[in-house]
Amino acid sequence: NATDDGPSIAALDDATVKRIAAGEVVERPASVVKELVENAIDADASRVSVAVDRGGKDGVRVRDDGVGMTAAELDLAVRDHHTSKIGDIGDLEAGVGTLGFRGEALAAIGAVSRTTVRSKPRGGEVGHELTVAGGDIGDPSPAGCPEGTVVEVEDLFYNVPARRKFLKTDATEFDHVNTVVTQYALANPDVAVSLEHDGREVFATDGTGNLRSTVLSTYGREVAESMVDVEWRAEEAGVEADATEIDAPVLSVQGLVSHPETTRAGREYLSTFVNDRYVTASALREAVLDAYGGQLAPDRYPFAVLFVELDPATVDVNVHPRKMEVRFDDEAGVRGAVSEAVEEALLAEGLIRTSAPRG
Ligand code: ADP
Ligand code: MG
Repeated sequence: NATDDGPSIAALDDATVKRIAAGEVVERPASVVKELVENAIDADASRVSVAVDRGGKDGVRVRDDGVGMTAAELDLAVRDHHTSKIGDIGDLEAGVGTLGFRGEALAAIGAVSRTTVRSKPRGGEVGHELTVAGGDIGDPSPAGCPEGTVVEVEDLFYNVPARRKFLKTDATEFDHVNTVVTQYALANPDVAVSLEHDGREVFATDGTGNLRSTVLSTYGREVAESMVDVEWRAEEAGVEADATEIDAPVLSVQGLVSHPETTRAGREYLSTFVNDRYVTASALREAVLDAYGGQLAPDRYPFAVLFVELDPATVDVNVHPRKMEVRFDDEAGVRGAVSEAVEEALLAEGLIRTSAPRG
């Protein structure tokens, strides 16, 4: 202000700070779905049901049969930076075994929507529900519900009109939701994951732990039948395979990749998971494509569902809260391993002829 001599810098009020932070976590309905599905899986659920309306713009509901929460836990769960998953930075440095750990998702979702969380702990007597609307946290009250948790998110971005306006068509938003739920279904074949859009079932996996049948439920029969098994592991030289103590980490790559002729144009169906976490990493993507060498038609992409397991301490997942990027200490090593694993699988089936050149 030009008329007084006071400083022109002032602290933002709490509500504004909250809403800006929330925007970092929640970009669109699919980001809400991602966070809620991750929470369900972290809660040891064996069933996760996702239902969205109008691409998630009108509502998102995620139900699980996981460990559930008590009334006191419900009240803490929706507060920013509250988590049951890590205690301090040491836990983070040692590598996290859960999908979440920032303790900000429920708070962020609650800041930009009207959200109801209903939960009953496993073996508990009573359930409770709690509503958060625009960041205002209500009191938990008793509510009848089965064991597990249901989170219902309505009126997303009702208080952030600029964000609301930026959302795309129902079909596009649903596409993002579908992609997210599919990744988590593929990552967790032992969890029965279902997705419903506007009351119609889109897919449902059986939760039997079989990756190929999970692919069948999500990508269909043609793709499932064209997939070949990838099974590859590097053991440190001199270490017995059954050694109980291994100093050097073992790197393993397993999963399914499609026949070079079972491809799609324009869109990539390359799912890579590092220590069961869905990640995007250009090193992994390129490793898969390298393995196919010249066998792919121009602009055609194969299907791949690959699980890379390595020492968690050699992976940094703390790159960005929203993006699913990772960094590897030994990127070239991981890339080489994945390429070799896929190449070996394709060679074994006679689907490629020679070793592909590596870039
Ligand atoms: P984070 O997942 O990073 O811990 P969230 O804001 O997503 O942060 O969740 C906060 C806490 O709420 C979790 O640490 C967990 O204890 C609890 N929670 C959230 N969702 C569920 C759920 N579906 N079942 C059981 N507990 C949950
Ligand atoms: Mg979470």
